[in-house]
Amino acid sequence: MNVIDVHKGGNMSYQIGKRCVKCGICELTCPKEAISIRNRNYYIERSICDGCDKYEKPICKKVCPIKKAIVEKTET
Ligand code: SF4
Ligand code: SF4
Repeated sequence: MNVIDVHKGGNMSYQIGKRCVKCGICELTCPKEAISIRNRNYYIERSICDGCDKYEKPICKKVCPIKKAIVEKTET
């Protein structure tokens, strides 16, 4: 088992993919402050992200102007 892929039970996990244009809106709006820049790319820290389970839709996906820049971890 890959321990890096373990995340909190029941919560969806998200990642930022290659479509990201690095506008930074998601970083500014994430209620958990789970998004930061690593190696010049925006990155979701999955140990902090709770999948926006209190909201109707993940805030980062809602504000991101690029379709499918932020995807569920199972999407590739
Ligand atoms: S799903 Fe919510 S908590 Fe997770 S990175 Fe996106 S905005 Fe932040
Ligand atoms: S809002 Fe979307 S395009 Fe902008 S930095 Fe975040 S993932 Fe990238």
